[in-house]
Amino acid sequence: MKDGRSGKSIFRKDYTAYPWDVNHLDLNFDIGRETTIVRSEMAFHLKDQTRSTHDIVLNGSNLQLVSLSLNDCLLSEDEYVIDGETLTIPGAPRKSVLKTEVKIHPQSNSALEGLYVSGAFLLTQCEAQGFRKITWFPDRPDVMTSYRVTMEADQSEFPVMLSNGNQVAQGDLTGGRHWVRWEDPFPKPSYLFAVVAGDLALVEDKFTTQSGRDVALRIYVEAENIDRCEHAMESLVNAMRWDEQRFNLEYDLDIYHIVATNDFNMGAMENKSLNIFNSKYVLARPDTATDADYQGIEGVIGHEYFHNWTGNRVTCRDWFELTLKEGLTVFRDEEFSSDMQSRAVKRIRVVRDLRSRQFPEDDGPMAHPIRPDQYVEINNFYTATVYQKGATIIRMYHTLLGEAGFQKGMKLYFERHDGQAVTCDDFRAAMADANGVDLERFGRWYSQSGTPQVHITDHHDPATGKYTLKLRQHTPATHDQKNKQALVIPFALGLLTANGEELPMQLEGETKASGGTRLLLMEDTNEEFTFINIPEPPVPSLFRDYSAPVKVFYDYTPEQLAVLITFDSDAFVRWDAAQSMAQGAILEQCRRRAKGLEMRLDSSLIKAFEGILSDRMADPALLAEAMILPDEDYLAEQMEVVDVDGIHAARKFIKRALAEKLQALLNERYAELNDGLPYQKTPTAMARRVFKNVCLSYLTETQKGESITAAQLESSDNMTDTLAAMKGLILMDSPQAEAVLADFESRWSEDSLVMDKWFIMQAINPGADTVNKVRELMQHPAFSIQNPNKVRSLIGVFSMLNPTGFHASDGSGYEFHADRVIELDALNPQIAARMASAFNRWKRYDEDRKALIKTQLQRIAAVDGLSGDVSEIINNALR
Ligand SMILES: [Zn+2]
Repeated sequence: MKDGRSGKSIFRKDYTAYPWDVNHLDLNFDIGRETTIVRSEMAFHLKDQTRSTHDIVLNGSNLQLVSLSLNDCLLSEDEYVIDGETLTIPGAPRKSVLKTEVKIHPQSNSALEGLYVSGAFLLTQCEAQGFRKITWFPDRPDVMTSYRVTMEADQSEFPVMLSNGNQVAQGDLTGGRHWVRWEDPFPKPSYLFAVVAGDLALVEDKFTTQSGRDVALRIYVEAENIDRCEHAMESLVNAMRWDEQRFNLEYDLDIYHIVATNDFNMGAMENKSLNIFNSKYVLARPDTATDADYQGIEGVIGHEYFHNWTGNRVTCRDWFELTLKEGLTVFRDEEFSSDMQSRAVKRIRVVRDLRSRQFPEDDGPMAHPIRPDQYVEINNFYTATVYQKGATIIRMYHTLLGEAGFQKGMKLYFERHDGQAVTCDDFRAAMADANGVDLERFGRWYSQSGTPQVHITDHHDPATGKYTLKLRQHTPATHDQKNKQALVIPFALGLLTANGEELPMQLEGETKASGGTRLLLMEDTNEEFTFINIPEPPVPSLFRDYSAPVKVFYDYTPEQLAVLITFDSDAFVRWDAAQSMAQGAILEQCRRRAKGLEMRLDSSLIKAFEGILSDRMADPALLAEAMILPDEDYLAEQMEVVDVDGIHAARKFIKRALAEKLQALLNERYAELNDGLPYQKTPTAMARRVFKNVCLSYLTETQKGESITAAQLESSDNMTDTLAAMKGLILMDSPQAEAVLADFESRWSEDSLVMDKWFIMQAINPGADTVNKVRELMQHPAFSIQNPNKVRSLIGVFSMLNPTGFHASDGSGYEFHADRVIELDALNPQIAARMASAFNRWKRYDEDRKALIKTQLQRIAAVDGLSGDVSEIINNALR
């Protein structure tokens, strides 16, 4: 099914307000899997008092129109115009009641947008523009109205029928049918609408808000998953309490629903009081879900809950403003996870993710500001830039204004805009006005794409004791913007002695020195900061806590990096220094290999990693992060022309050499952490597990690795340890690997989420042969090309996380992947477009690979009836 959209660009500057208020929407669903009948009644009032009539323009897609009436007069076909996705009723009176009846077909809806079928139930996904696949409506976020929803269906097939708000009535009908009515008192945009109907099991709890109201918390899942909701429920309760304590925001209805589905294009959706979740972010049991899954569930449950205020109560004026709700809500969920787990570890993981996913986006054919100025298909703009970079920009407000100032800004934002659809400029104005500061120039972060670079040099004068830091910022041109402006960049700094002690800092002109981290501000292209009374050349600790989303260039010596790794008080800087050192070593060996020289391991890296491994004071989760080598894609980003095989070989060489040199210490730490205690869900237990399994991943590079790994698998009582051991056996090409995979398969063959892990383990296995394995696995009964989780686990992992497989020199990976993009486009354009973006970085590869990829891009571009989603990605890549 194609979505039939125009393929034309839409521009932010062309925004015009909708001329009508829609005062009420009454929806009636006659639910059926094959055909559902949707009747709607909408009350339109013209905003402009001076006019007596105006055209009514509605959006719709793939709707079978049965009837249309205006003020109780049935309209004939010459009284309205349908053109593509719009329906126009010319010259409607200033008070108009419009009634429509349409038929839609959930069973054949493979795009998973609008109303569709998942297992035992029907559900909706409307963001961004799925509501138009349900009924004719002004499907844009600035049209907010109150909804009343009545559903009727067969009682045995659809015992549960849910929508937004509160259930206000229900009853039985003849012929084994029943009906239910829901009313949502809060006006909302159509993208937050949802219905769910089917046979679902319920887990229930309750939450008492700070003002003493009871809220019923209900998680609906398919019956076999009823024992896997405990963690999701606990996370929801924690999120509700946290939002009261940290943001003073209380939930506003009597019921909060979460429904888990196996068939979902995204992670989860914040529909008002009826969140719909990819089951991956709800279901967990220690034997089925890893610690990372548990943390992911907590984060996503929090994220969708936090949207109730940042997104639902105050929403976006149009889709260009998507980061208004997403950047802010990602910031809030990061803070939630930081308060629940370890702040330092969360920060490092967020930065790792930003660098490996968002930086390449900023440097590629789809580069866009966090608030884009144009798009063809909005679904292509649910990006790391809008979400993750957007969150770092919210974090910079927080850094600049402090927690109290930031909260003052949030309070004013809600006072001014509760119940409205607004813009990023409105948010910035609230932050500025609440704090009496000028954030005009800060606004450039919203309109400028690309990752800024900050080049830093320094000079110490022993005679005067002056230390000067010179900073120069530069944002490289991106495909969408040639000229870049200077940005406001918060620069958090520390200075250390060669022995690792923090130096007090006193800028020239200041009367006294202060200790700890110093927050400075870059406002222009060049900035200079001079400190006095600095007795020796210091080691600068730059951009502490990653105070701005920039690439930092400073020429550290290995000795300086070692000081930061060992002594810096800022966990992010310690980690970053270890990453820099490892990155330098790997890229150096990659260059040596290319020249035919033998690879070697530098003693400073051994010393640094020995120091990390011997640290018995630090949080084990932090040590684990420091021990994880930069991944191959991130390393690839550091090269002019990517040497796929060289990076893989050099990284492998460094890891193995470190493992051999540090084998005794690795064994010792592993043995301490492998304490044989039964599984626990606490942050402390998770931190020990992650460090243990990082040690294991090094040990698998050594002689004894296989026996240790097999023993862990044998004794494991949780999925984290099981998967770590299995991955180890697969990556070391152990003769046991095949049997272990077969065992796992027979144990979990009926479990969709666990089987995703089984697909991932095989798709990620490096090497040119993996494409054949992936092709073979597509025939596995647990695989379905219609299911986005399966597509992401097998095809997505292969193309995006397996560089030596995807970039096999014969082009077999590219050809396979292009076939999948074409196949998927006919079923689910949104997922097809996501997969197509695996080709985005193609110009970074050697001439042979570029030619091979270009052939595949052209082959996709030539497909007849290609969706707007995929053609936007492919055309941008080819341009
Ligand atoms: Zn969101």
